[in-house]
Amino acid sequence: MHDRDGKIWQDGKLVDWRNATIHVLTHSLHYGMSVFEGVRAYKTDKGTAIFRLPEHTKRLLNSAKIFQMNVPYDMEALMEAQKQVIRENNLESGYIRPIIWVGSEKLGVSAKNNTIHTAIAAWPWGAYLGEDGISKGIRVKVSSFNRHHVNVSLVRAKASGYYINSILANQEATADGYDEALLLDTEGFVSEGSGENVFIVKNGKLYTPDLASCLDGITRDSVITLAGDLGIEVIQKRITRDEVYCADEAFFSGTAAEITPIRELDNRPIGIGSRGPVTEKIQSLFFDVVSGKVPKYAHWLSPV
Ligand code: PMP
Repeated sequence: MHDRDGKIWQDGKLVDWRNATIHVLTHSLHYGMSVFEGVRAYKTDKGTAIFRLPEHTKRLLNSAKIFQMNVPYDMEALMEAQKQVIRENNLESGYIRPIIWVGSEKLGVSAKNNTIHTAIAAWPWGAYLGEDGISKGIRVKVSSFNRHHVNVSLVRAKASGYYINSILANQEATADGYDEALLLDTEGFVSEGSGENVFIVKNGKLYTPDLASCLDGITRDSVITLAGDLGIEVIQKRITRDEVYCADEAFFSGTAAEITPIRELDNRPIGIGSRGPVTEKIQSLFFDVVSGKVPKYAHWLSPV
């Protein structure tokens, strides 16, 4: 990943991709406190545009706020930098990864007085869970690892350290031949995937876990809004794993995963055992929106 041509924005400057490096004594590397975003840029008829750029940038700054990291850049500067990175790397579409971390002045748990750094990289990235996953759905296993408790990890933040939990779950599920894990919260209710929010469809209504233990996903929010346009009622509530087994349809949502149907959970086919009609409707509207085909949602796209 490091050995490429191209530019990465690092602390206010564009640097060659290969030179965008940090010291091994970087505080965030040792203790996991960095915050990041995953953002996508899409090709539209009017050129490349970044999907929900203000919302992603706001969440990044809120993540930093939660950990009392004083970021030396404001919303405007960070949004412009993300656009610049897409332009400089000549990307028609791609994934953008802004990250904010604590520098290497001092180790020890306290991050006080260490410098705060920011970088933004972007690269082409296709379907995270595979093109087949998007059209046919994926096989998912409930994880033996629970998702964060609200008083252990502050889950409104998208923090690097939290992804140890995601990696444990994803490694366990994929080692057993599944495509992705579904994590329950510490009380046993459905929370989210290792990098996705989850939805189920039952009798024409859409259900998703409330925001207690899962990330406040921007794709999740988009799905809720778009479902409203399609006349589909959305209910946010606690969901049990057997509700997912007996759902008519299920899908994951996320910037990387976009809308990926879940065709099976714990070896039980969900509904027809492939992408269901409601999922297909939402997915199709979502892809129209991100590619600029729906004027009503032009404000979700920031031209680069
Ligand atoms: N949950 C987790 C744990 C994630 O990593 C992601 C990806 N950012 C999501 C949910 C989905 O969030 P979003 O739609 O904002 O990408």
